[in-house]
Amino acid sequence: MTSTDVLVIGAGLAGLSAARDLEAGGASVTVLEARARVGGRVEQVELPDGRRVQLGGEVVGDAHTSYLGLVADLGLTLVPSYVVEPGAITRQVPEAVDVGPWPSWLTEPDIASYEHVEAALQKVVAGIDPADPFASPDLHRLDQLSVGDFLRDNGATAAVLRAFDLVHLSLADGSIERQSMFAYARKQAVGGGTAAYDVAEWENQRVAEGSATVALRMAAGLADVRLSTPVSRVRVATGGCAVTTTAGEELTADAVVLAVPAGPARDLDITGVSDERLTSLRRQRHAWAAKFVAAYDRPFWRDAGQNALAESEGVLGSTWPQQEGVLSALVPPERYAVFAATDPQTRTAEALAQAAQLYGEPALAPLQTWTRLWGTDPWTQGYVTSWRPGDVEAVGPLHGTHEPPFYVCGSDQWVAGYMEGAVRTGRAAAAAALSQR
Ligand SMILES: Cc1cc2nc3c(=O)[nH]c(=O)nc-3n(C[C@H](O)[C@H](O)[C@H](O)COP(=O)(O)OP(=O)(O)OC[C@H]3O[C@@H](n4cnc5c(N)ncnc54)[C@H](O)[C@@H]3O)c2cc1C
Repeated sequence: MTSTDVLVIGAGLAGLSAARDLEAGGASVTVLEARARVGGRVEQVELPDGRRVQLGGEVVGDAHTSYLGLVADLGLTLVPSYVVEPGAITRQVPEAVDVGPWPSWLTEPDIASYEHVEAALQKVVAGIDPADPFASPDLHRLDQLSVGDFLRDNGATAAVLRAFDLVHLSLADGSIERQSMFAYARKQAVGGGTAAYDVAEWENQRVAEGSATVALRMAAGLADVRLSTPVSRVRVATGGCAVTTTAGEELTADAVVLAVPAGPARDLDITGVSDERLTSLRRQRHAWAAKFVAAYDRPFWRDAGQNALAESEGVLGSTWPQQEGVLSALVPPERYAVFAATDPQTRTAEALAQAAQLYGEPALAPLQTWTRLWGTDPWTQGYVTSWRPGDVEAVGPLHGTHEPPFYVCGSDQWVAGYMEGAVRTGRAAAAAALSQR
C-alpha cells in the first residue's frame, strides 16, 4: 500500500494544476490517471512538418486570468487565436450559405429584434453577481426558463431564435431550448458582463506551443504521476482516505482531490462524504460533442475572402482556423448521434464534403484528418458542462465547494467548462487543502 499526503484523481488541467500547487506548498502528491497520457480534454498530435494539432481545448480569452497566469508561469507563449484570421464569417443553413456579417435570412426587422433582445439579455446579466450567483433574487425564475423561452418572451422573431440557436450549435453546448437562462446569463457575467458571447473575453488567444503543452509541462514537473491507473473507489475519512484502482491496488492519503469530469465522477463509488454533496456532484451533466480536424498544406479559404469561421446547421456545427492551414470543427450534441453512428470512413468523407460546401473543393484534399468522439469517451463522457433548465438550482450552492479532506476541482466545478475553469478550480482546491495542513 502506498501512502502520500494527497491523492489527486485525474491528470487533466485541473488535477495537474492542483498537484503542482500542492507540491509547491510542501505536500507529497500522487496523481492517478486513467488514460495512458496526461491532459484529459487537452490533447495534441504532431504533423511531420512540426505543426502541433489540437484535438481538444484550444483557445482562451482575456477573462481567463488563472489560465493566462499559469501559462506565463510555465514560460509558454500566448498568441492571438483565429481572431486575426483575415476574411469574413460563413453561415450555413440548408437553404443558403452566406459569407459576411449577417446571414441573408435575417431581415432589417429581425436585426432590430436581435438588438432588442440583446439589450434585454444585458439587463439580466447585469443583475447577476458572478462571485455570488446563488444570492441572485431571480435565480429560480431564470433557472426554470430556457434561453429560447426568454428570447420569445422578449419578442424575438423566428429568424432571431434561429440565429441564436445557430451560435449554440457552433459552441456545441446545447440548443437554446435546452439551456437554463440563469446558467447562460451567469456565464456571460463571469466572462465580463456583456450580453452576447464575447470572443475577446472567451477565445482571442492560444498557446503557441500547443494548448496540450500546458498539461505536459505541468506533468513533467511533478514527482509522481501514474498513467493507466483508473480509480474505481474513494473512501473519505478524517483519519485517512483510501483510493482503490480498478486493478485492485489501494492507496492511502490524508486528503483526496477529485479532478474528473461529471460522467466519470458518477461512475466512482465514493463513501465518507455527505449525501448532499454526492447528489450535487452526480446531478451535473455534459453536452456531448465531437471534434473533427483537417490539416491542409495552406489556408485555402482565404482565396475566397473567408476566414474559415463558420456557424452551421449541418453535422459540423462550427469550423474555425486552428492555425495556419488547420481547420477545426465541432459536432454539436444535436448532431452527435448521427455522427458517432456512422462508420469512420463515411463520416470523414461527409465532414469534408460539408467543409467543401463552405470553402470549396480544396477542402476535399487534406493532408490528414482526426476525429475525437469526446461524448462517448469513457474518461470524459461529454465535452463541456451542460445546464438544462432547473439544473443550476438542482446542483445547488455546493457546486465547486469542498468537504475536507475531500476536495473537488475540474472545469465542471466552474460556470461552463473551459480550460480556465479547470485551472482556476484546481488551484483553488490546492489552496483549500493546503490551508487545512
Ligand atoms: C473538443 C473540445 C474542445 C474544447 N475547446 C475548448 C477551448 O477552445 N477553450 C477552452 O477553454 N476549453 C475548451 N474545451 C474544454 C476544456 O478542454 C476542458 O474544460 C478542460 O480541459 C477540462 O479539464 P479538467 O482537468 O477539468 O478535465 P479533463 O481534462 O477531462 O481531465 C480529467 C482527467 O481525469 C481522468 N479520469 C477520468 N476518470 C478517471 C478515473 N476514474 N480515474 C482516474 N482518472 C480518471 C481523465 O482521463 C482525464 O485525464 C474543449 C473541450 C473539448 C472536448
